[in-house]
Amino acid sequence: MSPAHKPIIYIISAPSGSGKSTLVNELLKLVPDLDFSISYTTRNPRGSEQNGKEYYFVTRAEFERMIRADEFLEHANVFDKDLYGTARRFLKEAEDKGHDLLLDIDVQGAAQIKRKHPEAVSIFVLPPDRKTLEWRLRKRGEDAPEVIQRRLDKASREIENYDKYNYILINDVLEKSIEGLQDIVLSERLRRLGRALTNGERQITERAEQHRLEKVRDRVKPILESFRNPPPPAQ
Ligand code: ADP
Ligand code: 5GP
Repeated sequence: MSPAHKPIIYIISAPSGSGKSTLVNELLKLVPDLDFSISYTTRNPRGSEQNGKEYYFVTRAEFERMIRADEFLEHANVFDKDLYGTARRFLKEAEDKGHDLLLDIDVQGAAQIKRKHPEAVSIFVLPPDRKTLEWRLRKRGEDAPEVIQRRLDKASREIENYDKYNYILINDVLEKSIEGLQDIVLSERLRRLGRALTNGERQITERAEQHRLEKVRDRVKPILESFRNPPPPAQ
């Protein structure tokens, strides 16, 4: 790619437990020249998480120093508790390498990036319903029950923002979701080529279009309902 390459910024947001990390990990194996922006956070590592792999785990003092030094492209207080931020340097590094950049950030961060980079491609991952999300959070087995409850409460508020995103991916059958995510990423690259597409390439863009808001509205409705009217908590 040319040195003047302008990276495509892909933003992926989802309520915690929707399967976003799983999807992102698979996507990165399938799509070349796509860098993952490793966020900084003040939260503690979970399970097998390693510093510099899933996140850079830093103290609040260090995070605040980075804010003052303007080292973040965006940052947000997530769950009203911990700070998370995207370092500017990842965008510069992607640009230098001729790569694109993938950000796994929350809705507040996505809004900040969209203000600065309106051409960024945003994808919202939805779970099939609230019960499945709860089950996935429990299955992951990394959070205490009260943390799971907090994540479910946040999910209910967060998913109301789905319609601010360019694409919506309902993560039901994992393999299909991975294909869908790959189609979206490749289709955005193809759109920027500025040349006629081959039949095979056009099929990719057509499949990606199936994840536009107007195409998924009917499928999203019952998902939103399941969050707006959750069953009473078990005694
Ligand atoms: P997130 O990054 O959104 O918090 P994870 O990727 O950690 O979520 O996924 C939460 C749990 O759900 C994990 O145990 C993961 O293996 C599982 N999972 C993810 N996607 C699916 C899917 N489509 N079907 C069933 N289980 C899934
Ligand atoms: P978790 O603690 O489950 O890893 O992530 C919690 C939430 O923080 C997720 O919604 C995730 O997308 C978001 N997040 C992770 N990194 C960043 C970041 O750099 N900025 C913002 N705004 N949100 C982030």
